Amino acid sequence: MSATAQVESKERELNVLESTQQVIQDALNHLGYGPKYYDLLKEPLVTLTVRIPVRMDDGSVKVFTGYRCQHNNAVGPTKGGIRFHPSVTVEEVQALSMWMSVKCGVVGLPYGGGKGGIICDPREMSIGELERLSRGYVRAISQIVGPTKDIPAPDVFTNSQVMAWMMDEYSRLREFDSPGFITGKPLVLGGSHGRETATAKGVTICIEEAAKRRGISLKDARIIVQGFGNAGSYLAKFMHDAGAKVVGISDAYGALYDANGLDIDALLDMRDSFGTVTTKCKNTISNQQLLEMPCDILVPAAIENQITAANAHRIQASIVVEAANGPTTLEATKILADRGILLVPDVLANAGGVTVSYFEWAQNNQGLYWDEEQVEERLRHVMVRSFETVYQMAQDHDVHMRLAAYMVGVQRMAEAMYHRGWV
Ligand code: GLU
Repeated sequence: MSATAQVESKERELNVLESTQQVIQDALNHLGYGPKYYDLLKEPLVTLTVRIPVRMDDGSVKVFTGYRCQHNNAVGPTKGGIRFHPSVTVEEVQALSMWMSVKCGVVGLPYGGGKGGIICDPREMSIGELERLSRGYVRAISQIVGPTKDIPAPDVFTNSQVMAWMMDEYSRLREFDSPGFITGKPLVLGGSHGRETATAKGVTICIEEAAKRRGISLKDARIIVQGFGNAGSYLAKFMHDAGAKVVGISDAYGALYDANGLDIDALLDMRDSFGTVTTKCKNTISNQQLLEMPCDILVPAAIENQITAANAHRIQASIVVEAANGPTTLEATKILADRGILLVPDVLANAGGVTVSYFEWAQNNQGLYWDEEQVEERLRHVMVRSFETVYQMAQDHDVHMRLAAYMVGVQRMAEAMYHRGWV
């Protein structure tokens, strides 16, 4: 396809918010819920925009824009991460909060969906600047968040250190220690065993389940992982340790492919805290080339809109498992389904993260802490059960796995809204 044709075909695709609305509408139609339900679910109940002045290291003050969206709290308090990224937009944070609602419904957590984002580039900020930004953001959103209202967590380019600053700031504002305000904290501050690796563990379980359904043995399966951040790097390691052949990986700057398998341990040693590794390697290819290389299982674990109508026809994998949020457009979802490729959608595949966040919040609330085995066992139980529920829904209604997952998630919200008398 020529470059112009690619641009045109991209333009025809819906943006993340519109496509999320479309799948919610489709899910409600399949389930037989009327327009009143759609009216409440089509956008977040709360979208807060804040402007945060931050003293930079050179003495100047820079004003950052941030958002916190709460999609729907009929099932319970809202829950979802905070991303720090230069390309954050309000529509993106709104869509991400809606995906969190569906995700919590898919794995059966007592939460609605929330999400936050700040337009910034943490790769170009000092530790002190990041701390002041994190604390300023919490002060700005403090009225609408809290352990029984809306519980944040890490997302793209935020980590346990950012969560620690945010928890400390919130506890100071409230004048009591509030570990249940935020999840993904360091262990010593009430974090949970297994939270750091939870997303990758959940993705691994989904890969195992999908491979079983397709009769593929993980041993020697060829896997491409796009993205080498929290989810992608741990996943590459788990797959490599399970005997699979990780033939491709990438970061924001480029990708590596080797049909004989990459030396994942060496790459993990070279990786920096933002997941950058390819800048130190020779013979790199582009991220877009990587997605189309030969493999059995493709795991997009980076950012949105990577598999689109422009490249979905050329994906060679027979299973695609979405570790990132929103890596495949709706148009591409349909193309992959028509081609018989099994796609395990983000709201199921990466739900391990929020599931262990829920375990962390539950431990904070009861003041009783679990060991690593307990967390792992419960996570496995939730992921295997949820995979089966969504797979069965897809079979029963003859729909693709993304729509099936939305049907599972949306149904819970619809029932909760009904019982509350909102519809
Ligand atoms: N940011 C993660 C996600 O998109 C985790 C959210 C959480 O732990 O609350 O699922």
